[in-house]
Amino acid sequence: MKIFKFGGASVKNAEAVRNVASILKRYEGEQLLVVVSAMDKTTNKLEKVARAYFFKEGDTQEALDEVKAFHTNVAKELFDNAPDDILDELNNVFVELEWKLEDEPIKDYDFEYDQIVSFGEILSTKIISAYLNQEGIANQWVDARDYIKTDNTYRNAKVDWTETERLITKNLKPYYEKSNLAITQGFIGVTSENFTTTLGREGSDFTAAIFAYCLNAEEVAIWKDVPGVLNADPKWFDDTILIPQMNYHDAVELTYFGTSVIHPKTIKPLQNKGIPLKVKSFVDPDSPGTIINKEPYHLPVPSFIFRMNQILISIMPKDYSFIIEENLRDIFNLFTSHQVKINIMQNSAVSFSVTVDHDHLKVPTLIEDLRKDFKVLLNEGLELITIRHFDDSTIDRVLVGKEVLLELKSRNTIQMVVRNMPPS
Ligand code: ASP
Ligand code: MG
Repeated sequence: MKIFKFGGASVKNAEAVRNVASILKRYEGEQLLVVVSAMDKTTNKLEKVARAYFFKEGDTQEALDEVKAFHTNVAKELFDNAPDDILDELNNVFVELEWKLEDEPIKDYDFEYDQIVSFGEILSTKIISAYLNQEGIANQWVDARDYIKTDNTYRNAKVDWTETERLITKNLKPYYEKSNLAITQGFIGVTSENFTTTLGREGSDFTAAIFAYCLNAEEVAIWKDVPGVLNADPKWFDDTILIPQMNYHDAVELTYFGTSVIHPKTIKPLQNKGIPLKVKSFVDPDSPGTIINKEPYHLPVPSFIFRMNQILISIMPKDYSFIIEENLRDIFNLFTSHQVKINIMQNSAVSFSVTVDHDHLKVPTLIEDLRKDFKVLLNEGLELITIRHFDDSTIDRVLVGKEVLLELKSRNTIQMVVRNMPPS
């Protein structure tokens, strides 16, 4: 059996959904579990709803109406002369969400966020499942929350693998004895108390890997708007090159450093069971894309990863004492408890420097806590450039007009924190 994952761009409107149907038709007769994200920018729009609701930033109803209108329009386009069932079903989903929004928040923001933002995946999968059935592609809508069990780290939930595997084996495997296709949501899970969680932004790839692991799938395919894994994001580079084959190790390194085609948590479960991962184009499904597996491939070209919106945090003991293990332990504990992920770090005798994504909610409170015990210096508006399998010319290429604030080099990888030089 195969696990397919379709992200937001692959289901961004009615035409895109028709395209997904045409791809699935090619696999008729095969056993497939299809994991789908929220349509287009729905997750961002629902984040707006969550902020309006929780922080009273803007009009909740207005933000919600945008999400409603979008899905209703897609559904109307897909089900022109069909019965109103699907519209009723969508309406029920919206009523449920509106009930939630009418009540006052009961817990912190991360909890409320998950209760709201998870609706994006519910809406997309309801529409897609119904559309496929209309088109004769028989399938069952599956609630991922019946299977993906997590702890209660809202917005970044950790999977309870034992329970998840048990439920999938017990309840989902038997479904495939008689049927071929099920449609489920990426990104969402559930706590033991039945509250919805999310696995972190772009987490649907990880969902696909979790199901693949627990079902011992033969492969996972992630369908993207790019031809496969490229050596750089075409957003920042013109002449990108497709990497046809890659081993798990390079894939882990590249996703860890920030390659956005695959979510970083996706590779480990697949590597553990030797399940190949394909990255394929939904625009050109005939093209082979990229295959990631355990073969000892070498990356054919240097790979570039750019992370924007970085902040460099330099941390020093207030009394100019050395940075020793105890300080580092305290510093790491603060980063963990504030859930701020370190992208690069470096230490000297008296200071410890890290670069992190500049999250405007988490970073300020982290810094406040760090300042209780340390002197903290900040540099904002930076970019983190990583090159895997670099050489001098690749470094020169990315440093045009940039100034390097911090650099780390190993045999295979160079990382540089840079800022734009002021025009002279
Ligand atoms: N819809 C979620 C997001 O946009 C999850 C995903 O797309 O993988 O982050
Ligand atoms: Mg998405």
